[in-house]
Amino acid sequence: MDIYREIKHLNPRQKEAVMHKDGPLLILAGAGSGKTRVITMRTAYLIHLGISAKTILAVTFTNKAAKEMRQRVSSMVKRGSGRPVISTFHSLCLRILRQEIEHLGYKKDFTIYGTSEQVSLLRSIMVDITVHDTNFKAESVLEHISRTKNDFAPAGADSSDDPVEVASSFIYPKYREALKSMNALDFDDLLVLTLKLFREHPDILAKYRDKYKYIMVDEYQDTNSVQYDFIKLLAGNTMNLCVVGDDDQSIYGWRGADIGNILNFEKDFRDTVTIRLEQNYRSFDHILKAANGVIKNNRKRMEKSLWTDKGAGPKVNIFQATNTEDEAEWVAGKIDFIKHDKNLAYEDIAIIYRANLFSKPFEEAMRRQRIPYTVVGGTSYFERKEIMDISAYLKVIANPSDTLSLLRAVNAPKRGIGPAALNALSEYASTQSLSFIEAFEKASEIEKLGQRALSSAESFSELIARYRNLFENSRDMAKTLKDLIEEIDYKDYLIRLYKTPEAAYRRIENLDGFVESVAHYASSGSSPSLQGFLETMSLTDLIEEKEEKGGRGVTLISFHSSKGLEFPLVFIAGIEEDILPHKKSAVNDEGLEEERRLFYVGITRAMKELFITYTQHRVKYGKETPSVASRFLEEIPSDVSKILDRFDKPDPEKDRAYVNKLYEELMAKLED
Ligand code: ATP
Ligand code: MG
Repeated sequence: MDIYREIKHLNPRQKEAVMHKDGPLLILAGAGSGKTRVITMRTAYLIHLGISAKTILAVTFTNKAAKEMRQRVSSMVKRGSGRPVISTFHSLCLRILRQEIEHLGYKKDFTIYGTSEQVSLLRSIMVDITVHDTNFKAESVLEHISRTKNDFAPAGADSSDDPVEVASSFIYPKYREALKSMNALDFDDLLVLTLKLFREHPDILAKYRDKYKYIMVDEYQDTNSVQYDFIKLLAGNTMNLCVVGDDDQSIYGWRGADIGNILNFEKDFRDTVTIRLEQNYRSFDHILKAANGVIKNNRKRMEKSLWTDKGAGPKVNIFQATNTEDEAEWVAGKIDFIKHDKNLAYEDIAIIYRANLFSKPFEEAMRRQRIPYTVVGGTSYFERKEIMDISAYLKVIANPSDTLSLLRAVNAPKRGIGPAALNALSEYASTQSLSFIEAFEKASEIEKLGQRALSSAESFSELIARYRNLFENSRDMAKTLKDLIEEIDYKDYLIRLYKTPEAAYRRIENLDGFVESVAHYASSGSSPSLQGFLETMSLTDLIEEKEEKGGRGVTLISFHSSKGLEFPLVFIAGIEEDILPHKKSAVNDEGLEEERRLFYVGITRAMKELFITYTQHRVKYGKETPSVASRFLEEIPSDVSKILDRFDKPDPEKDRAYVNKLYEELMAKLED
């Protein structure tokens, strides 16, 4: 693909942005106006100008976006021009920390803990310091800790009388120490520690400033203060920083994202060139007018006028279902019909909801109607017991200081090392200043240990050491993993644990899938390593794997995760008071406006047709409760929307065409 030919198709403002070379650039524009497309093309253009690809850094919001961008850039540049660094904030920081973390007193083989590991670590700390109050959930403590880390704890938290906050500030230092002693980082640490590194080590900062000379950030409206400071430091020298964003799509305020970062860009970076894009290339006019009608009710925003020349398209359909099952069933039925009618692929369709917990009825309806689907970011595959157990082995093998994973692995399957033995081992480790796993090695020196515990401890430490060696030297990672699973008799353990073969069978299948993903990783990377696999595992989600295996089906996704994506056909479900706006957020204007932005993000994902549904009744806390349509629905102008009747029959002509098509498909199948 020729870059100039591509540039010719852009509008003048887009062109200007793509061809802007040095100095700060701000692209502030509404949804679907080509912001992401502009930074992708600008990356290719800079390479075309002869700027070394590896000095160009583009930061995007999700792995999926990064991957798409990489593909697009490589299709626009000559072969052999090298690769720009296109990455999420987390992956970029991880890359830097793997090189530099020793300056902060950690070892290079550190582990990354996901949410469930953080929660179990917190629980163990809370038990240690006897915070057993059932009112304290480790999850709420975690939320508070994360806020403190990212430096956006509510003002006056120190003097707060909220018991969770008080407890959290007490638990936090212990949590931090525990992580460090296990040579482990949580997700927030990836960013926070990189920032610390840059602040405390000017020589390292200088090195990375030299390395990344052109920086671009997508979805800039959702950066929090840590990300902002990080980018500002990195771009410090050249100020060759280009950020793109839309204040109307800022939806991470609850995680500390600050719209101020985009609104103040011109102040923070002198001589900024600001470009606004106003043409929307994504949606038909009715959809766009619905979106504009909603968002204009926000007071705190920059006025924009988005327009399209794509034509009006169908009106936005609004449907009231009786309850959640009915809603899901209706949506599945519509999908089936429209897919045939409009000749769409399942991949062209998305169902968007407020939070992952709303996916269940849709999953069931899809299964009943045999529609393939993928849930994005749902109950994570990596949070399942069998996957977590085996990952715990891998984590200890990669980082022997990782006590939390060791504690998990050591009893799955049970080895006869019970709480008393673990206590004795831990005591010995601390009196002799050994790591936990070293205490296992020296178990024979611990008098308190019984014979069974002693030999189990020794053979466990031998197992870990042996597999560390095997993973380092084997060419076939998946085979090594399979051997490990067999050697520890893990599948038998599952069968014993879950009693019915069916229950165990599903889990064994998951496990086989896990081995497959190791094989997949090992075959796609240039120098695969166990650590590399664990990183990929903690930073990506399985959807990417699935896509490669062929077709992801209909996408089930939350508003938050849908940011930046687009689909020809979109269903937005559960648009009811207390859900959107969420009842916790509707209490003040700020919260309410963020909820409205969420709705705006959802609506603007649709290219051709949009359906919005809500229910009459919904089960809340086990009781069927009447639902009320969201106040946001009324903000959609009536001339661009249409209330659907359940019995709204599609026109008979189309019905006939549909039936004929089904008939043809059936005949074709029979002939096969
Ligand atoms: P969002 O705010 O949702 O992230 P965005 O501003 O990043 O949206 P893009 O995703 O870059 O918008 O573009 C939206 C769609 O419009 C894409 O399908 C893109 O390929 C298309 N598009 C952008 N610019 C043009 C153009 N000049 N001509 C034709 N299509 C375009
Ligand atoms: Mg975008």
